[in-house]
Amino acid sequence: MKAVVFHQHGDEQVLQHTDVAEPSVGSRDVLVRVKAVALNHLDIFTRQGWPGLKLELPHILGSDIAGVVERVGPEVGDLAPGAEVLVNPGLSCGACERCLTGEDNLCRQYRIIGEHVRGGYAEFVSVPRQNILPKPARITFAEAACLPRTYLTAWTMLVRRAQVRPGETVLVHAAGSGVGSAAVQICKLLGAKVIATASTEAKLQRARQLGADHTINYVEKDFLDEVKRITQRRLVDVVFEHVGAATFEKSVACLPYGGRLVTCGATTGYEAKLDLRVLFYKRISLLGSTMGSKGDLFRVLQLVEEGKLKPVLDRTLPLADAAQAHRLMKDRAQFGNLVLIP
Ligand SMILES: [Zn+2]
Repeated sequence: MKAVVFHQHGDEQVLQHTDVAEPSVGSRDVLVRVKAVALNHLDIFTRQGWPGLKLELPHILGSDIAGVVERVGPEVGDLAPGAEVLVNPGLSCGACERCLTGEDNLCRQYRIIGEHVRGGYAEFVSVPRQNILPKPARITFAEAACLPRTYLTAWTMLVRRAQVRPGETVLVHAAGSGVGSAAVQICKLLGAKVIATASTEAKLQRARQLGADHTINYVEKDFLDEVKRITQRRLVDVVFEHVGAATFEKSVACLPYGGRLVTCGATTGYEAKLDLRVLFYKRISLLGSTMGSKGDLFRVLQLVEEGKLKPVLDRTLPLADAAQAHRLMKDRAQFGNLVLIP
């Protein structure tokens, strides 16, 4: 089959469109013919590598996959070839206390398809049956590929971790990113007011179309000053963080007494300064989050089927142009998700 692989870590140049063997299909696995695979910022980090990361090379990236069932293992009795499906990228043991209480993303064996094992930058991917969900009928494969990782991440951050309530105000950083554009929509669904940041007027306009009540161009203006002005110094109940070093200190300063900051990433750097007096005196909660439980994705898909949440597709590119897509994502040229089509 055709796939985009890398044999060594590095810049976009290491991505090669080439022929590789089809993945094997275990007795409880499903072979999916990939129709669309979305990019995630983690694809860049995985491509670059980090200390301690051990991958079987060549590696195939791609966590957010939509496609059609090609064939199933002998112990899979409830899925037939031709079914239109989505892949939940979280792999877990399925037997530990965490898995059995719906916290499978806290399983000690938790891994992510495309990050720790071979993923969907390919014509086919083999995944366990429990990672398969039905594709909502009202959206395309490319739109469906925008959903799993971004929505599961944003949903878990806002619903499970920060527990956003109606009437609260949430600052959503980088609303043009996949996870940011999902967060704006989920906040509105929860009845919250949204202040969204982005780098261009065009992106801010898209954020307002998704429901953002106020927008801040973080290139032109200081977002902390703007938050103070917009909220008349009441600040925001929740900050939705995934930017990291460049924003963290000011994100904390956006919180009033009892405020919560929830973070799933640090695309601008991992080290940030925190005045511990602010943390304890203002009774601030700092909440970490990664992915979410498999079960929550069913609720997200139901809300997509009802038209209450919408995937945000920026554009599609042929799988062979994966390197170009990585460059677009690095330059933050997109609004929403970039999707590759094998
Ligand atoms: Zn487990």
